[in-house]
Amino acid sequence: MNKKQTIDLDFDRQHIWHPYTSMTQPIPVYPVTHANHNLIHLETGEQLIDGMASWWSAIHGYGHPVLKNAVIEQVDKMSHVMFGGITHQPAVELCKKLVAITPSKLQKVFLADSGSVSVEVAIKMALQYWLSQGVTSKQKLMTPLKGYHGDTFAAMSVCDPINSMHSLYQGFLPEHVFVPAPKTQFGQQFDKLEAHHLAQYFEEHHQHVAAFIIEPIVQNAGGMNFYHPEYLRTVRELCDRYGVLLICDEIATGFGRTGKLFAVEHADIEPDILCIGKALTGGMMTLSATLTTDKIAIGISEGEAGVLMHGPTFMGNPLACAVACASIDLLLEQDWQAQIAHLNDALQALHRCNDLEHVVDVRTLGAIGVVELDTVIDVAKIQAFFVSKNVWIRPFGKLIYLMPPYISCSGDITTLANAIYAAIAGKHY
Ligand code: PMP
Repeated sequence: MNKKQTIDLDFDRQHIWHPYTSMTQPIPVYPVTHANHNLIHLETGEQLIDGMASWWSAIHGYGHPVLKNAVIEQVDKMSHVMFGGITHQPAVELCKKLVAITPSKLQKVFLADSGSVSVEVAIKMALQYWLSQGVTSKQKLMTPLKGYHGDTFAAMSVCDPINSMHSLYQGFLPEHVFVPAPKTQFGQQFDKLEAHHLAQYFEEHHQHVAAFIIEPIVQNAGGMNFYHPEYLRTVRELCDRYGVLLICDEIATGFGRTGKLFAVEHADIEPDILCIGKALTGGMMTLSATLTTDKIAIGISEGEAGVLMHGPTFMGNPLACAVACASIDLLLEQDWQAQIAHLNDALQALHRCNDLEHVVDVRTLGAIGVVELDTVIDVAKIQAFFVSKNVWIRPFGKLIYLMPPYISCSGDITTLANAIYAAIAGKHY
């Protein structure tokens, strides 16, 4: 479109690593100048309808005035200050909100800076809790196959060891107990055999297991698997029966994405430790939190170490906390359930893909839509096609999926769904 290019793509290609990419065979990156509402603007002039909400996070779209104002007001007062020995209003306000909206048992909050780090903190909490109780045998974690919890070392150790992006590091990772991935899909009749198998794993391993870690209802990067709430309820019951803590990783599912504010609500259970991130700030800043119960926090605090051994530099960043407060208020002030239901209706358009060759499943839950193929997708190729159709969708493995900003209208979802249909029908993968 003949616009002058200022983003130096050659420099980018030669010097900058993008997520999960090679420096010698980079996949194309698209130069973005700005984003507003649910539109991503390329330097080359195209406006792309966003289907990804920047990996689950930009639930209110981009540049929402309420979030922007929260940042501007806070930056005038203080953009960052160390959290050691200091507190401030944005952190206190945010933690009040988090304690109020998450399951009631969760009363203590640790603020960190990314989802992976909140998982590291959750694991430390679980290990330290048992040590504080004088239980030294509980040094392992239990987790379902097909899970994904982040890219740092403890988080990688509980990702699916075979299918995950981390199998390369297996020799360096602590070994944990993997149980079968949830099989019964959300909405199907629960297969009781699953509960039976889970019980066998708990029976065999519980003495060495500090905590069970799981993504509630949606296994995200491990296959976009929407599973039956009864699996999660069974895990909660077995954790109680066998003295194992339950860590729920709602980094992707938190803040309404599945139709409930937190996905644990589908199973009506409460975890002992909860990780949140991504949509916590509406995608405006990087922030995560790990919440836990009084019992665990007091246990750790009265244990031999007496403190929780973690303290990132940008812990409780005031800008991020202020924007998180604004994002949570913005979400809860509107009829967000109706908006998610509306998006789910629009996502039903994806079912048309069922008629196409190589499509093995189409599924939706809340504001998530997934089309699964029986073949691995060439991301660069399909993405070029999507950009030519003015949509931003980034497939992964055999999956093409949508998790649009909540402010998207039905017409935009239809455009996204039509682009997916056309990409598969025209074999642009
Ligand atoms: N857990 C889950 C379920 C996730 O989806 C992700 C991010 N994809 C993470 C943890 C890691 O979060 P982050 O990328 O912010 O470190």
